[in-house]
Amino acid sequence: MQLIDGNAIAASIITELKSQVDALPGRRPCLALVRVGEDPASVSYVKKKEKTAADIGIESRIILPPVTISQAALETLIDDLNADPTVDGILVQSPLPKPLNELAVFRRIAAHKDVDGFHTLNLGKIAQEDDTGFVACTPAGVMELLARSGTDLNGKHVVVLGRSLIVGKPVALLALQKKAGANGTVTICHSGTTDLPAITRLADVLIAAIGRPEFVKSHMVKPGCVIIDVGINRVPDATKKTGYKLVGDVDFAGVSPLVSKITPVPGGVGPMTVCMLMQNTLKARRLSAR
Ligand code: NDP
Repeated sequence: MQLIDGNAIAASIITELKSQVDALPGRRPCLALVRVGEDPASVSYVKKKEKTAADIGIESRIILPPVTISQAALETLIDDLNADPTVDGILVQSPLPKPLNELAVFRRIAAHKDVDGFHTLNLGKIAQEDDTGFVACTPAGVMELLARSGTDLNGKHVVVLGRSLIVGKPVALLALQKKAGANGTVTICHSGTTDLPAITRLADVLIAAIGRPEFVKSHMVKPGCVIIDVGINRVPDATKKTGYKLVGDVDFAGVSPLVSKITPVPGGVGPMTVCMLMQNTLKARRLSAR
């Protein structure tokens, strides 16, 4: 069994991105990070993004509107960032506190600054196999992990568990693209799927993104398959200082002896997501320079 080491792959991508940013003419790429409220997970995600940006040489502009900001004022803030020629990418940290309408805020971000890849136009470009858009960071990270671990999807049966707009659907579309490294035969499963284990057992490559701790058990996988575990779930663990541990959507201990390659949680897909955000910001800077 080969462990697909997301930390090591992310570290080499960060080095590559840094040399590309160093070689850019003109100003450095700039990423605006908007965080509303003090949700502890959001605070730590934004810090991580700020640090990775600094490591690469990307400028980050942290914007912390008050938790009481109105929908209209937040949308005006996004409009201002859209119009600012010194800002290349905009990220609004999810989740936004209630009663803010997150989807409306995401949709307000101009497609050419949508480095999170949530804009309708950018999702549509994946379907059209048009590389000028931004691919959402987690699906892009999954594809990068597959490529860099030598997993070619051509001719393979790829089963995606989950159909969310930020992971399941885009990753399924990417795996399906008629391109080198992709060209998979794709099945998407969700909570309405009947006899899920019968389908997952047919997978040469299984991508799990359902948010159910250790849901995929050994009887659900084909021996020798490749598993990408996107899930990040907190489960109680009294032995940890925090009182919880992180586990994926796959029962790693039970499944890993059977498979040819697998990502761990943590240390698999997670570190790739931030890298892909930086890659998208660099792409936005290059597009804005044209
Ligand atoms: P969502 O909750 O938006 O979507 C979950 C999907 O899984 C839905 O399509 C749902 O089906 C399906 N599902 C839920 N339960 C079952 C079940 N028992 N059987 C079959 N399908 C099921 O989650 P996300 O896509 O946002 O996230 C998925 C996981 O990935 C989470 O653990 C999340 O924390 C993690 N994640 C990790 C990231 C990273 O950087 N590594 C980034 C983003 C997410 P239906 O549509 O029918 O409701």
